[in-house]
Amino acid sequence: MRQARMWLTAATLLCLAALWAGSAMAASRDLGAGWEYRWGDSPMTADGVPTWARPSDDTAWQAIDFPANPPGRRGQTHAWFRTVLPDGDWRDPVLYITSIDLIAEAYLDGERLYHHGTFDAAGNGRFAGWPWHMIRLPEDFAGRLLTLRVYSDYTDIGLWGEVRLMERAELYDLLLRDSLDALIVGPLCLLLALLAGGFALFQDDRRRFLPIGLFALGSGVMILAECPASQLLIDRPLLWDGLTAAGYFSLPVALGLLLEHWFADTRARRIRRIWQAHLLYLVGALGASGLGWVELSMTFPVFDALLVVSLVLLLAIIVPYLGRFDARQRAILGAFALFGALLLIDMAVAHGLLPWRRVPTSAGALAFALVIAGISLIDYAHTQRELKRLNRQLEQEVEERTQRLQQLVDRLEIDSTTDPLTGLHNRRHFDECLRQETHRARTRQAPLALAMLDIDHFKRINDSHGHAAGDRILAGVAIALREHFRDDDEICRIGGEEFVVLLPGAGADTARERAASLMAGLADRVYWHDGHMLGPVTLSCGIAAYPAHTDDPLALPDLADRALYGAKKTGRNRIITAT
Ligand code: GH3
Ligand code: MG
Ligand code: MG
Repeated sequence: MRQARMWLTAATLLCLAALWAGSAMAASRDLGAGWEYRWGDSPMTADGVPTWARPSDDTAWQAIDFPANPPGRRGQTHAWFRTVLPDGDWRDPVLYITSIDLIAEAYLDGERLYHHGTFDAAGNGRFAGWPWHMIRLPEDFAGRLLTLRVYSDYTDIGLWGEVRLMERAELYDLLLRDSLDALIVGPLCLLLALLAGGFALFQDDRRRFLPIGLFALGSGVMILAECPASQLLIDRPLLWDGLTAAGYFSLPVALGLLLEHWFADTRARRIRRIWQAHLLYLVGALGASGLGWVELSMTFPVFDALLVVSLVLLLAIIVPYLGRFDARQRAILGAFALFGALLLIDMAVAHGLLPWRRVPTSAGALAFALVIAGISLIDYAHTQRELKRLNRQLEQEVEERTQRLQQLVDRLEIDSTTDPLTGLHNRRHFDECLRQETHRARTRQAPLALAMLDIDHFKRINDSHGHAAGDRILAGVAIALREHFRDDDEICRIGGEEFVVLLPGAGADTARERAASLMAGLADRVYWHDGHMLGPVTLSCGIAAYPAHTDDPLALPDLADRALYGAKKTGRNRIITAT
């Protein structure tokens, strides 16, 4: 209980302290006016202190509003700026500078308290990046002279953005607030890049996803590298500027890649040349600055000029065809236009054409990411619908094909069991029929008769009238067979001029009756072929029946054949029943 009360008191005290700290925090003070400047670099005293950094030095200084780009530069690479720091009630005061072109030293009453980059003996130095600066001040800074020694071989010289006197905590707060949009949009772009990259790797539609992935990657990297919070994480300004350059310089490459395949004619070639030029610049500029041949800072203004030219050229190519683009393409173009406009404003601010302000370039990237995400969702829904439709169509086609296949199978089955010349069943069908009828006869104890028939001296017809005449006779005998046997009887042609009839449920007498009526029918039937009269033909017939002549119906063909042989031997044109 005692312990709990102690914790409560401590917590209350902490809250009160925090409240006090909050209220005690002085408001930040803008130091964006009331400076003095002078061109050139200061001579040094024997102990290495620049004489211009001393408060006593008041020669040749001229008034300037903001400590940057004083008039009359004429190729000069050194400038000095100074101001007297105001009074104020700060507990942990810092001087915040958005950016410096390019390297600088800060002195307070002649004493160096900060430097960005390194000055060599001649007072020159190399580009050290464009980070934000936090210069910690002693408590008694009020009324003291702040002097800045600046070196720049860049287009601008001096400070850039804001110069503010503030509490350190307040600065962190400001930096985080300024980073918030980038910290949301940057990872979103990288996620989009990852997805698009994945699609580009694993889908056939590479040309569509690659530029989107590249653009999202470029803008994500650029936005995160530029964001003030990145410097809090890793204090490597040149690394962040290199990444910013890589991301920024890759944007027109991705844009060109995307636009190129919207066209199929000379415009595509022109767009290709534009993005190829940017790709060349990207590789060349980053390579040259990486190797130390040129300062990274110089690659930006050249790129900016190239970008302006490219955007104008792209606009000239695209605008006349705006009407031909579909809604998706127009949405993508709209996002690009917004992003492009923001980049141009940012560029104008960077080069001092517009007064300093923070340009929300990430809003352009966000618009792009949202448009792509929206389009992808719509595309996904469309693809799903299309897939369903295709599936239905496929099912229908499969159904139709199955039906056609079944018809073919049926046809094939008929063909495989039918004799094409006579239309009667063939030997294969007969064998199957015999098996079935045997089974039925046995299980039902029903009689089964079989007649084997062979045309007499058929060869002679072939020999004297030709094969076609023989065919004519075969077809005629088949018709006669159908007329004289019952519908239930199975009539098959099992050899050249040999027929067999299976008579389920019939005995030898019925078979003989039918065969006799057939032979009588044929006796006065003639056929005509090529003006020649053929026939009448005679048949020889052998008959066997189950169970009269055998207890195995499968033996019927042999028995009937033997009987037929007997009929042939005993003079033909007759019926002989097996015994
Ligand atoms: P038999 O009275 O002893 O049965 O004498 P055959 O001439 O009828 O018998 P053979 O076995 O000597 O001759 C049968 C002939 O049938 C021989 C063959 O050329 C002919 N032939 C077989 N198939 C066909 C066919 O599809 N069309 C025609 N036109 N003739 C055929
Ligand atoms: Mg014959
Ligand atoms: Mg024969």
